[in-house]
Amino acid sequence: MKLEVITHKCTGCRICEIACSFHRDREMNPVSSSIMLHRNEKKDYFGVMIKREKEVFLGRPEGAEVLLPGEKAEGAGASSKPIVMREACDLCEGEDFLFCVAVCPSGCLVEEGGAS
Ligand code: SF4
Ligand code: SF4
Repeated sequence: MKLEVITHKCTGCRICEIACSFHRDREMNPVSSSIMLHRNEKKDYFGVMIKREKEVFLGRPEGAEVLLPGEKAEGAGASSKPIVMREACDLCEGEDFLFCVAVCPSGCLVEEGGAS
């Protein structure tokens, strides 16, 4: 099972953050979420970031990139910092489906490979 991001489809609603925090803590508090909205404060556009074990995935309208520890996305504001400290996405271990995929209203988040 794999979490895929169709990078140009994100609308910035942030529901995925809430869903992930519910998986993490059974609370609707995005502070613990492994996925969060990336906002570029100068260009006034956004994408989605996912904390992985050894990297941060960043999907923006122009495509996807991977940030290694210490790297920062060009133009990223303070919104990009907190995710580095968070738990990595565990593909909703112990759940029956990927919570962020289930709630994403735009089809930006897609489960590849099916539930195990
Ligand atoms: S797959 Fe689960 S753990 Fe990973 S970002 Fe989505 S909700 Fe969070
Ligand atoms: S739920 Fe989907 S559309 Fe909304 S912020 Fe997350 S990835 Fe973007």
